[in-house]
Amino acid sequence: MYDVLTTRYTFACPARGKTSVRLSAFREVDRLPGAAHPAVFRVRFACGCGEDHVGLVAHDDLDWAPLGLDDGATFLNLMTARVEPLDSEFVDLAIRRIQAGEWPWSFFCYPEERPRPVFPSFFRLLAPSAPDGSIGLAVLCPACFRISINLVTHEHVDLPFHNDAEIGVVEHVFASDTAQTLEEFRARLYSSDFDARRLLLE
Ligand SMILES: [Zn+2]
Ligand SMILES: [Zn+2]
Repeated sequence: MYDVLTTRYTFACPARGKTSVRLSAFREVDRLPGAAHPAVFRVRFACGCGEDHVGLVAHDDLDWAPLGLDDGATFLNLMTARVEPLDSEFVDLAIRRIQAGEWPWSFFCYPEERPRPVFPSFFRLLAPSAPDGSIGLAVLCPACFRISINLVTHEHVDLPFHNDAEIGVVEHVFASDTAQTLEEFRARLYSSDFDARRLLLE
């Protein structure tokens, strides 16, 4: 499902059979009602074939696999020329970094006026934005459950522990209703000036 080495998720594509995309190619992320162990997310993503498709991703794959924290991941150890489980290497590193106060993903919560750590399962909408290729990202805050829109780089989304030093923030408090927010998001994204904020977490 997720490949740590290429940082890509694999999905079915009606045209190509299989396709693999980065997190930044996701367009909508919605938690399916009901399924809880694990929670399942419905993802609409922009496929390399030019169309958008819908796929399902389990919570573990969405949040933990990019950190090497899912089961069964392996890598080729060039020192021993053996395929070995990723767990020890990646897990140790990821846990040490989180303990040191580094977060795999973060965003700026506008209603709370502060940066916060987050996981991809709290991303709601992603849209390619400005000519520089940055991404408009609507995030549901895990702390206050309100939605903020940040303007970030692809790396900020795709690479765990890569957090942009500065990001754009739309100065607007969004309604919590997702359907309405989707329309508002599009309107704001393409019309708003983004206010630059620093993403330093304490
Ligand atoms: Zn496709
Ligand atoms: Zn918040």
